[in-house]
Amino acid sequence: MAKVIGIDLGTTNSCVAVMEGGAPQVIPNQEGARTTPSIVGFTAKGERLVGQIAKRQALTNPKNTVFAVKRLIGRKFNSSEVEQARRYLPYGLTQAPNGDVHIQIEEKIYSPPEISAFVLQKLKAAAEDYLGEPVEEAIITCPAYFTDPQRQATKDAGLVAGLKVSRILNEPTAAALAYGLKSARGQFVAVYDLGGGTFDISILEMAEGLFQVRATGGDTFLGGEDFDQRIIDWLIAEFSRETSIDLSQDRMALQRLKEAAEKAKCELSTSQQTEIVLPFISADSSGPKHLNTVLTRQKYEGLTDDLLDRTIDPCKRCLADAGLKPEQIDEVLLVGGQTRAPKVAEMVRRVFGKEPNRAVNPDEGIAMGAAIQTGIIAGEVKELVLLDVTPHTLGIETRDGTFTPLIERNSTIPTRKSRIFTTVADNQTKVEVHTLQGESDMAAYNKSLAKFELTNIPPAPKGVPQIEVSFEIDVNGIVSVSAQDQATGRSHSMVIHPSGGLSQSELSRLVNETRTQEQSERSKKEQEAVVRQLDGLVTNTMRSVQALEGKLTSDEQSRILAAMERAKKARGGADLDELKSRLLEMEKAATLIGQAMLRP
Ligand code: AMP
Repeated sequence: MAKVIGIDLGTTNSCVAVMEGGAPQVIPNQEGARTTPSIVGFTAKGERLVGQIAKRQALTNPKNTVFAVKRLIGRKFNSSEVEQARRYLPYGLTQAPNGDVHIQIEEKIYSPPEISAFVLQKLKAAAEDYLGEPVEEAIITCPAYFTDPQRQATKDAGLVAGLKVSRILNEPTAAALAYGLKSARGQFVAVYDLGGGTFDISILEMAEGLFQVRATGGDTFLGGEDFDQRIIDWLIAEFSRETSIDLSQDRMALQRLKEAAEKAKCELSTSQQTEIVLPFISADSSGPKHLNTVLTRQKYEGLTDDLLDRTIDPCKRCLADAGLKPEQIDEVLLVGGQTRAPKVAEMVRRVFGKEPNRAVNPDEGIAMGAAIQTGIIAGEVKELVLLDVTPHTLGIETRDGTFTPLIERNSTIPTRKSRIFTTVADNQTKVEVHTLQGESDMAAYNKSLAKFELTNIPPAPKGVPQIEVSFEIDVNGIVSVSAQDQATGRSHSMVIHPSGGLSQSELSRLVNETRTQEQSERSKKEQEAVVRQLDGLVTNTMRSVQALEGKLTSDEQSRILAAMERAKKARGGADLDELKSRLLEMEKAATLIGQAMLRP
């Protein structure tokens, strides 16, 4: 059976793992690294770079280097939010009238799922190289607090990358799986996950192979990138105070500040202070200017305290939703790179009254959990059942813009709820249903998922038609809606206006593009391999012909030399079939040499 891979598609870094011999194994990428920066770069020649190599060009080519796209995926932005995003994302962002944000590189427009797909494609290729067989299916993780459009868009990214996404798994749940596989006892575990761009808190109950998520909460717009930004803002202010130069408009300087800020932040996780030195960061009429400053941990913590504090309320609410007191939590697992900051542990002690547990590797644990889930689905990991929950309340808009909940947050998924709709006017033939996700009583403050119309309702007095609309959340947290006329049993046609992910036509176009590109890369690779073999044979044959001087008949010699000539000629072309026949011909020529060698 073809292998299914587990992918942690992170804001900053991504990781891929697979089950081998009943245990999850991280797959190294083509450069031998166990994680891959979630960065896509485009060179001046239009070449696409993914991972470390893209990260390297960020410094010299910031406007064509896309990072942190997970902060954009499946989200709608208003104009002030786009302005805010533009402050720390140096690449081009364009906004569609419906609030979707796209990435503009030179003349070309990319959607966020398309950029994520480039990262996924690289991980898929790494897994194929490692396993030596094609990979077509994956489980991809996402923050537990992702909404339906964000999940849908993540799934689309997988499809565009040529992967059937058999499950969208919540990141903290994946981390708990990675942890629990080693130490499953009856206990309550809180997973505090602060990554590059998102914060998640989940509380799980683990008992004899049953992993049940009790509650989940978070903030999909809070992570390590925000901590970096605070340092960048401080550096800009300090530099402006000293030199009156504003670095905030200088893209190249901003990219250098970003790298320096992240490095300083990571150093401050283990040191009390760090030096930030950026020579030639700018210049004025008096000459070049250098940035040289010291950042202490105390100062850094002062700059970012409010960011960490934003994680407190979701933790408290999650505890309340789970119906637990802090002292009932047995372990608090820390996941996500940003939890390496010592202040996080202090905060956890404050909220949960206990020392956090760092048993899960923050870089690899989530991908390993996703791999374990592939094992559970395939029956390779036995006696382990995972029950997850939906993070947001699902409901509809009713009279006066009120939000009426249908499926409460933290309901175990999959789940399904139905509601009867009717008409408010005589002979009304259609009803509009607006589905939303969120916790506000007012529809306007929640996330709109879809508006659809129930049409072709047979004319009848108002209040008579009985149309049952069913709302379903599947194991991936993805929502679907269906409707049925109770009187006739007929399913009603629905017009759905999706508000997340890619449109069907965009999706098919991108899937086809990837397929074509993969095929051309595969034949390019095959061609390179044949050329390498051919080159080797030609060189060795040439040597043998010289060494066997006098032993080859003139007929043999001219046949071999002619084959070599044809091989060299074919090598310059791009015809794979021609190359393969020349390879066969050279192999035959080599047998003539073998025969000559055996002659007395
Ligand atoms: P993740 O999405 O889990 O890969 O987390 C990435 C985030 O963790 C980035 O913002 C990193 O800058 C941050 N990070 C990685 N290592 C450290 C560290 N030693 N101290 C503080 N933050 C870190």
